[in-house]
Amino acid sequence: MTNSSAASMPGAQSEAPPRRVAILGSTGSVGTQTIELIAREPDKYQVVALAARQNVKLLAEQAHALNPELVVVADESKYLEMKDAVADLPGVKVAAGAVAVVEAAEMNSDWVMAAIVGAAGLPSTIAAAKRGAKLAFANKETLVCAGPLMMDLVAKHGCKLLPVDSEHNAIYQVFDEEHREGIARLIITASGGPFRTWSREHMEKATPEQAGKHPVWNMGAKICIDSATLMNKTLEVIEAAYLFQMPSELIDVLVHPQSVIHSMVEYKDGSTLAQLGSPDMRIPIGYCLAWPDRMTTPAPKLDLVKIGQLTFEEPDPVRFPALRLGREALKLSGTAPALMNAANEVAVQAFLDGRIGFLDIEKIIEATLGQGPVVALTDLDVLMDADAAARAYAGEHVAKLAKK
Ligand code: MG
Repeated sequence: MTNSSAASMPGAQSEAPPRRVAILGSTGSVGTQTIELIAREPDKYQVVALAARQNVKLLAEQAHALNPELVVVADESKYLEMKDAVADLPGVKVAAGAVAVVEAAEMNSDWVMAAIVGAAGLPSTIAAAKRGAKLAFANKETLVCAGPLMMDLVAKHGCKLLPVDSEHNAIYQVFDEEHREGIARLIITASGGPFRTWSREHMEKATPEQAGKHPVWNMGAKICIDSATLMNKTLEVIEAAYLFQMPSELIDVLVHPQSVIHSMVEYKDGSTLAQLGSPDMRIPIGYCLAWPDRMTTPAPKLDLVKIGQLTFEEPDPVRFPALRLGREALKLSGTAPALMNAANEVAVQAFLDGRIGFLDIEKIIEATLGQGPVVALTDLDVLMDADAAARAYAGEHVAKLAKK
């Protein structure tokens, strides 16, 4: 169909120029699914920047398919390899290092996907917010660590924050911002992770492979371990508290193993609004990509007859202490959530490397949070210092617990 015939059709949308898109974390789980969706509607999106940590092979493939203006590999040691891999694309500029990732966020794109895992994604996410971009953020650590700073920047620069995290995306879709005084509480659903029914004794001997097998969602390695400890849900409670400006005591967690209801908003009058869908990240990614329109995605449509039954349980605070730790961090505020996040990142990596046991993760987090010091979050430098100190302390703790 040509543009002119589309324009003359009754009800046809006027042809907008393609949305200029930057994808930070393009080779990860969210990044590749974003590109899969863009490939379905190539006329609507023009990818101008791609950034990834170190997967040169996939990044080069993406560059050949999308022909962006800038390709960034965060790992500086991969610069020459990257340059070589796209040498046949004269229009593509290659850069490397953390500063270049921020440059990719600062380019004049309309829409940025912030999908770099962990606190490493913070500077680029903040750079995109400062530009007032439409910012799809899959990087929950940004809000966990820098929530108040980030929300101030969002308000000041007119940035449109679009949550990719499935729970927050669900709440976003049913959260009546204009009448928020009618909202009683948020209910964040949790699949319960791979150890939902495991005893503490059993968990103590859990391997990275067992913890990495998420029962429902297809996700990256770090987030799979976070799902097994329920730290992922903890990070999500903090993320929701900042994003929706709700106090921790009005945010509940509900275990829902089928992961069909992605979260809910309960209103004062007793109405509860939920967003339902197949557990497929292409739904929230597509929501953010096309916002405020809707796009067709290849995610399977929900078949409630086939599913038959939806079940719910209270989370078990004894077997999963992560939820308590998160609420403590949120109450302490300031740099506390950043300390908790840093300790978790260090501990999860040590567990994935086989250096510590599964239950050591929570010990390292609790010790790091107890060590502090927790200070007011006045600017990004304070945050970075707290993050570095917490990583150093957690690293020492890992060494003490490490298997001989
Ligand atoms: Mg989530």
